[in-house]
Amino acid sequence: MLNKATVLIVDDSPTNLQVLAACVKDKHRVKVATSGEQCLKIAQTSPQPDLILLDVEMPGMNGYEVCKYLKSSSQTADIPIIFVTGLQGDKDEEKGLALGAVDYITKPIRPAIVIARVKTHITLKLQRDKLNKMAFYDQLTGLYNRHFLIDMASKKVARALRHRYDLWVLMIDIDHFKSINDTHGHPMGDEILKEVAQTLALDNRSEDLAARFGGEEFVVMFDPCNETDAIMKAERILNKIRQLKPHNINVTVSIGMAKLVEQDVTFERLLKRADQALYDAKENGRDRLELAQ
Ligand code: GH3
Ligand code: MG
Ligand code: MG
Ligand code: MG
Repeated sequence: MLNKATVLIVDDSPTNLQVLAACVKDKHRVKVATSGEQCLKIAQTSPQPDLILLDVEMPGMNGYEVCKYLKSSSQTADIPIIFVTGLQGDKDEEKGLALGAVDYITKPIRPAIVIARVKTHITLKLQRDKLNKMAFYDQLTGLYNRHFLIDMASKKVARALRHRYDLWVLMIDIDHFKSINDTHGHPMGDEILKEVAQTLALDNRSEDLAARFGGEEFVVMFDPCNETDAIMKAERILNKIRQLKPHNINVTVSIGMAKLVEQDVTFERLLKRADQALYDAKENGRDRLELAQ
């Protein structure tokens, strides 16, 4: 697990870079930057660093400024920063930690100290990433889970109501899934869930959202999206699943679809209308789409 981590080393002195790189390169992927400006660029580039060793005194942007900047952007705020500096005063250390750094190493560096602290903070970072992933994603399908969906969807609903643009929610349920399980076995049922989920994920624009709501039910959101496009996209989902035939098994879904209206107020209310439409789709023969009124 540890060898996948990326450490970004930032120092204006090539000698320091070399010494620090020698401490971490056996265990981690190393990136280097010789200025604060370069550090900001690399910190936003994939693969993003899991840890930054940041020199304080540099021409141009100094380490404190770089740290402040990284912490102020949601894209980089979670990257742990260790200051590596020749400044030895208590005040300097306090300042670095107050800016959000996780640790502070003074020069001249002692390799054993660098190695130990890097190991600690990389371990913490990777554990945190893993927990975040578990908290947001459904283990079987890799789609967002219900918890994340409700969190995210509530924000989307508030935003759409505020800015008055169209937002659609689709409740998607696999037809007769119980009998698919009964006929082909539960493990095959799981495989089908994964393939259906993948189809839903691939069909999405980045602004759209696909989540596993539970069991064989999925929620997809389109926003912003006008009615014609929303219906076209939902029909395309029906078609794609119909043609999927995972492991040569006929699989279809029914879709209930609702457009956000002012009276919905919350995501739960909107979802309830999509669920009622889904019920209609089941009643009206399955493998079809129904719109909430
Ligand atoms: P309908 O067309 O009315 O939706 O019928 P259905 O059989 O799909 O609906 P029902 O709610 O009766 O059954 C859902 C089934 O989904 C029952 C349950 O065992 C199965 N299921 C739920 N979660 C999982 C899962 O994670 N893996 C597998 N293999 N099956 C699951
Ligand atoms: Mg320096
Ligand atoms: Mg169901
Ligand atoms: Mg079902």
